[in-house]
Amino acid sequence: MRLLSILLCLLAAPAAAAPVLIRPAQVFDGSTLHPGWQVLVDGDRIIAAGPALPVPAGTTNLDLPGGTLLPGFIEGHDHLFLHPYNETPWDDQVLHEALALRTARATVAARATLRAGFTTARDLGTEGAGYADVGLKAAIDQGIIPGPRLLVATRAIVATGAYGPKGFEAGIAVPQGAEESDGDRLVATVRRQIGNGADVIKFYADYRWGRGEPSRPTFSAAELAAGTAAAHDAGRRVAAHASTPEGMRRAILAGVDTIEHGSDGTAEVFKLMHDRGTVLCPTLAAGDAIARYRGWNGAEPAPPAVQGDRRSFALALAAGVSICVGGDVGVFAHGDNAREMRLLVAAGMAPIAVLHAATAGNAAAFGFTDRGRIAPGLLADLVAVAGDPVADIAATGAVVLVMKGGVVVK
Ligand SMILES: [Zn+2]
Repeated sequence: MRLLSILLCLLAAPAAAAPVLIRPAQVFDGSTLHPGWQVLVDGDRIIAAGPALPVPAGTTNLDLPGGTLLPGFIEGHDHLFLHPYNETPWDDQVLHEALALRTARATVAARATLRAGFTTARDLGTEGAGYADVGLKAAIDQGIIPGPRLLVATRAIVATGAYGPKGFEAGIAVPQGAEESDGDRLVATVRRQIGNGADVIKFYADYRWGRGEPSRPTFSAAELAAGTAAAHDAGRRVAAHASTPEGMRRAILAGVDTIEHGSDGTAEVFKLMHDRGTVLCPTLAAGDAIARYRGWNGAEPAPPAVQGDRRSFALALAAGVSICVGGDVGVFAHGDNAREMRLLVAAGMAPIAVLHAATAGNAAAFGFTDRGRIAPGLLADLVAVAGDPVADIAATGAVVLVMKGGVVVK
């Protein structure tokens, strides 16, 4: 009996892990590349970073010859409850997949995301899966399933009649991919979503009202301003889906924190974003994926939609807009999150700027002060890749180590 209780004790309380000294070829600290640096981790924190660190007795070495150690990547635009549209069209996922099925898939998506080196993800809407992201986040935080630290938007908010699925007998109530709200009700919708667990509020500031139509603004400037103020009062940041210049302009002036897509932005609207400090999440990977589902083989010239995304992104870069790295993952496979980084570089952004955006930049954009850089006192959320991602951004897909909170998860 006594032996059994000792055994149970040992099982319940794992021995305190020894400090770990990680020795890669180089360290990217969130801003700068440092050849020859090492990083010391103790518990869930980074203790020190620099060349030839003194280490406490009992430290174990973790050697990564030829590897680059970076802060864990932060996915800026995720949909863990969606899976690639070439597997199942979005309408069918929203209308025909059971919540339990979608949740089971999301647990697999979360694991794939973490194993790709993304130790934090901002999930921008369950797309018809209700508040299931709140439970998914709890399951990860409680150590029940592996996954990134999540910021969740829950249902996201659309103007009545603006979103989808569409195309049914008029007047029939069809389940929608986000929560409809307008006017005086909008503030209550924001507050209810926050009360139910939303860490971030997402508005659709423009959308295609009918099939085959171009996107047009949905919410009025006053609606966006009131909803954004309610979120900010509660300490939640706001993301706005917007691709049209007018939708973007209204969202920027309303004070949203990030604009998602921005694919038809103009020099004028990007100047406004720059001046207001609004961050752009270009989601180039989503447009790339959809073009490929429609038959594009990747050869140039790219389809007009892909060229338009690149043109708009180039205008944003020229205006000095802060860039978020977020691929709209779910449109394409979870775990292929680094695809956005490759496309940003291909579209003209410097690799080191992309790496900064995916780590320290996204952390700042989302309000995190405990991650996104390699510095003493921050969370030991780390990723190591084979080779040098500054020389070749494709190395971000060659993940050799993932550590979350000091625990090696891959
Ligand atoms: Zn999205």
